[in-house]
Parts: sequence; structure tokens; C-alpha cells
Amino acid sequence: MSKQARVVVLGCGTSTGVPAIGCLEPVCLSEDTKNKRLRPSILIENGGSNLLVDTGPDLRQQALTHGLRRVDAVIYTHYHADHTNGIDDLRVFNFLMKKPIPCYAYPDSATVLRRNFSYIFGNENHYTGFRPKLTLEEVNDESFEAAGLKIQPLDLEHGGNRVMGIRIGDFAYATDCSSIPEDSMSILRGVRVLIIDALRHREHPSHLTIEQAMEIVDELKPKETYFTHTNYELEYHETNRNLPSGVEMAYDGLTLGINL
Ligand SMILES: [Zn+2]
Ligand SMILES: [Zn+2]
Repeated sequence: MSKQARVVVLGCGTSTGVPAIGCLEPVCLSEDTKNKRLRPSILIENGGSNLLVDTGPDLRQQALTHGLRRVDAVIYTHYHADHTNGIDDLRVFNFLMKKPIPCYAYPDSATVLRRNFSYIFGNENHYTGFRPKLTLEEVNDESFEAAGLKIQPLDLEHGGNRVMGIRIGDFAYATDCSSIPEDSMSILRGVRVLIIDALRHREHPSHLTIEQAMEIVDELKPKETYFTHTNYELEYHETNRNLPSGVEMAYDGLTLGINL
């Protein structure tokens, strides 16, 4: 029997979250919890260790909802604000764990993270508040270890940005992509559980549509696929009714077992 880990979807909404501020569309006004989506992030629980993928603006709320008390490592898929702007809340885990947290990113994302959060990653002696203690390690195509897990990175094309998808055992997470290069498709082959970007039905320059994501699903044929980074145009139940079996919308709090 292979070892198992648990994936928790902390947020599966697009950059504005759902509901978006000021939005009067039906899904934004819906009281169904399945239509309430925080900014995109997942947690992977590996025994007693926790790997956090992205720290969006909703990190505090996500951590409180799930009773999160430790973060052993963070992977940044890319530098966009909806994936990074909760970074300051990592400091509570420094308090709780009394040690720095290793973070991993592709070099181009790491450069922007260092610039955007120079009070964390730079030497800003004038900053007197308590700041997170993080190390930032650049990774590339080679697999690496984080929170006791073997991570295989894979490139995703995101409207001109290079986003890190990850494969761990029979699971893969591919948020924020407009297409998936052939080398990355090779890494994804044989995946059993896939979480993939599917923003909406209408085309978008930096995100897959439901239809484009389905083309990838048809090629990879995972046993279970969940759509993430979804916007207000996708009502949870209505969208699910039109998806084939084995493919469904993710929702905040969705929990999945994976084999390492
Ligand atoms: Zn995003
Ligand atoms: Zn993005």
C-alpha cells in the first residue's frame, strides 16, 4: 500500500473571490455555500506536516476555518496578488512553530516576491513591526522536497507568465493556466486526481475555459477532476449537471485523499 496524504481546497475562487465586491449577479447573491469561493489555495496534509500552496488574501480566514496550526512549507505557484497577498499572516505560524518557513517558487516569481515583499525578504531595517520569517528558495524543473513530500513541478502557460503546476504522487494541481505545454502534459499523464483552472465558459487570455479544460481532461483521463479558479458566471449545481461523470466543480473545503 502506498502512503496517503490529504488535499484540502482552501479556496477555489477567481482573483476577486465569489461573491466579488459590489457584484449583483445571481451567483454572487446566492446564499448557497457552494457558491462562496475564497481566493485559490490548497493545503496538503502529510502525516503531521502541512504544505500550503499559495497565500492569497483570504489566508487568515482559511486558516481559522480549518483550524490550521502549522505550516511546514509554502509553494508559490506564481506572484499574482490573489496567490500571494496573505503572506503577512504566515508570521502567526512562526509564533506557533518557533522557526522560519521555507517557501519555494520559480525564479521569475521569486524576483517579484522579493520586490513586492521587500520588508520580508530584504534588509529593511527601518521596518519595526513583526514580520514573517521566511526563506525563499528558487526551484526549476527538478523535483524537490517540501513538508516531507516529493514535488514534481511542471510549467503552465498563464497569459505570458510561467506558473508552477505541481504533481505529487497520483495528484496534480494546475491553477492559473491558459494552456499546458507538451512537456508538462507528459508529467501529468497517469494522474488520478486533478485540480485544474476553468474560469468560465467565455474565452480569457490567461485562463482556461470549461471547454478548454475538458479537452485536457479528455486527454489525461483522470479518475477525478475538479475545476478551480471559477468565477461568478459558474453556478455550482447548474455547472455540475452539465459536466460528465468524474468531473465536477471544486468547492471550498473539498477534501481529497491522494496516494504518494
Ligand atoms: Zn489566480
Ligand atoms: Zn494568476
